[in-house]
Amino acid sequence: MIPFLDLKAQYLSIRPEIDATVARVISSGHFVLGPELTAFEERFANYCKTTHCRAVNTGTSALHLALLAAGVGAGDEVITVSMTFVATTAAILYSGAKPVFVDVDPVTWTMDPGLIEAAITPRTKAILPVHLHGLMADMNPIMEIARRRGLVVIEDAAQAHGAEYRGRRAGSIGDLGCFSFYPGKNLGAFGEGGAVVTDRPEFARRVSLLRDWGQEAKYDHVIPGYNYRMDEIQGAILNVKLDYIESWTEARRSLAERYDALLSDLPLARPRPPEHARHVYHVYAVRLEHRDEALALLRDAGIGVGIHYPVPVHLQRAYAELGYRAGDLPVTEMLAKEFLSLPIYPELPLERTDEVVAALRSAAAPSTNERSIRKAS
Ligand SMILES: *Cc1c(COP(=O)(O)O)cnc(C)c1O
Repeated sequence: MIPFLDLKAQYLSIRPEIDATVARVISSGHFVLGPELTAFEERFANYCKTTHCRAVNTGTSALHLALLAAGVGAGDEVITVSMTFVATTAAILYSGAKPVFVDVDPVTWTMDPGLIEAAITPRTKAILPVHLHGLMADMNPIMEIARRRGLVVIEDAAQAHGAEYRGRRAGSIGDLGCFSFYPGKNLGAFGEGGAVVTDRPEFARRVSLLRDWGQEAKYDHVIPGYNYRMDEIQGAILNVKLDYIESWTEARRSLAERYDALLSDLPLARPRPPEHARHVYHVYAVRLEHRDEALALLRDAGIGVGIHYPVPVHLQRAYAELGYRAGDLPVTEMLAKEFLSLPIYPELPLERTDEVVAALRSAAAPSTNERSIRKAS
């Protein structure tokens, strides 16, 4: 048995610190937007190599407020990808704008910059690339197009804490960067959480107002806002976990390196990170032809596997009104049918990847015999 994720193992590894932190916050009587949260914001901004961080209640809220802070609203279009969790699209719709999807690059699985220009219209206001699975989108061409065409860039870095592109951190290249601290993310709270990072003080100020009912001072509401504040407990917990994020990230990278080596002779495709990238492996994905069969075989063998994500956003019933059809984003659709995600988390012992790969080996190339046995059973 190898679970896809083991959140308890991480808690146990730092339990005394966490327990003391939770007890301290409860006795302090500060439960929302308190001093420990502010301390976390400062350190997380620093970690992302940005000047400002504003913590909010979820990654989805971070995206929503980043869009509003950048002035995106009704009648605007935002260019994004469908190869992502639905939250990216949902946040664009919350802002009143319309998501416009471009396909992903077949090598990196992130936004294909070559398709952006053709998607720009007079209504386009922003580009929202997603750093899928922990690998940053190709930011240089994206920024070049955005600057030339006067567009805002918002990075969805929900899966990419500490990822790098040519030495620059996720969240620090675009005008705003958005993170999620959902428990299963690389930096996870014990509950929900999110953050917006930026170098622009006016954007940070707007996010501060918007997350707390538009209040400049208590009961002085200068703009309509939201209740998107982060709990003090989550901020304090994240502040403890931030001490470990680099070693946890390196553990993920070692596991990925081992998977890479063990899988090198199998007919599997993987997203190929460019030389200059620091991939932080929120997800380790492999692509194979008989994916659904492999998924069943791996699950039978007790290996926790997943698909992130099986139905692209543009083909979800919830977003049918956007008017996309099967065939509109061929690379995204092909990947959604052919890839699966293997267990990867810092507490997974390196040698246990052998078991995963052994199971995958029989699944990737099932003999006719094995296949007919499965069919018959
Ligand atoms: C998790 C995630 C989000 C949303 O974050 P929540 O904290 O769950 O609201 C947005 N975008 C991507 C790519 C994600 O993986």
